[in-house]
Amino acid sequence: MQLRIGNGYDIHRLVAGRPLILGGVRLQHPAGLGLDGHSDADVLVHAIMDALLGALSLGDIGQYFPPDDPRWKGADSLELLEQVMELIRSKGWDVVNVDAVVVAERPKLRPHSATMRSAIASRLGIDPDRVGVKATTNETLGPTGREEGIACHAVALLQRP
Ligand SMILES: [Zn+2]
Repeated sequence: MQLRIGNGYDIHRLVAGRPLILGGVRLQHPAGLGLDGHSDADVLVHAIMDALLGALSLGDIGQYFPPDDPRWKGADSLELLEQVMELIRSKGWDVVNVDAVVVAERPKLRPHSATMRSAIASRLGIDPDRVGVKATTNETLGPTGREEGIACHAVALLQRP
């Protein structure tokens, strides 16, 4: 059996007048902020997509879903994740597990992590217990700590029989 590992990172700005969608779940930010971006700006799903692509050295999501392409305006990132997964499978690979950590001061993500994990796992075609979604604050330090944005780090392990 062959194994490949990939890592992904993403950050989006927090702004007024935008929805806050993480792992396909719409959340309420206490200050009414949401994530800016061309698609739905789901930073968690984007980092996972980059980890999956990175595991097979297939580049990054910007190549597949360019931010200047009107097709991806307001796109549901879970649907983009499904497309990435189709590409991974077409090359004969499956996901062993993914793990992600979201860096955000607010809101509290733990109450929603089970829903996020299920949503992501169903698009990957794996059990939710193979999808880790953790959250941490940045202790008020840096751009995520000042709530200028929300960032996410992810890793993915793939296998080919
Ligand atoms: Zn992104």
